Amino acid sequence: MSARSICPDFSALEVPMDHWSEPFWRAAEEHRLLVPRCGACGTFRWPSGPFCSQCQSQNVEWLPPGQGRIYSFTVLPVRGDGEAAPPQFRIPALVVFDEAPGVRLVSSLVDAPAAAVAIDALVEVDWLAAANTTVPVFRLRGES
Ligand SMILES: [Zn+2]
Repeated sequence: MSARSICPDFSALEVPMDHWSEPFWRAAEEHRLLVPRCGACGTFRWPSGPFCSQCQSQNVEWLPPGQGRIYSFTVLPVRGDGEAAPPQFRIPALVVFDEAPGVRLVSSLVDAPAAAVAIDALVEVDWLAAANTTVPVFRLRGES
């Protein structure tokens, strides 16, 4: 069995939220990935903020972003415990979505063999517990 990317530990993380990001995190608690789109002109607004970058509207709607794929990634070696510990690594990734142009979510690709990761690889969301919500991470489609 080849080594797979490890999960970050978010269990002690207090995710900061404000009025404009809280709907993202409340949906995440229910394991639903939603992203904000301007209710006036339809531009996706990422990161979530008070005004649309195109029309300055504050009207926002939350939608599922469609199929995710890897836009960019890196493989980060992580030091194990002691000389005999097997090598470990994390894969931070930038994920884009077929139905939400402009949204680029910074996340982690978990449980993936490094050799199987590629630009445009399809991914599925998974969820890790944080102190006050649940954080989206991704797995290669078909590897879960
Ligand atoms: Zn707009």
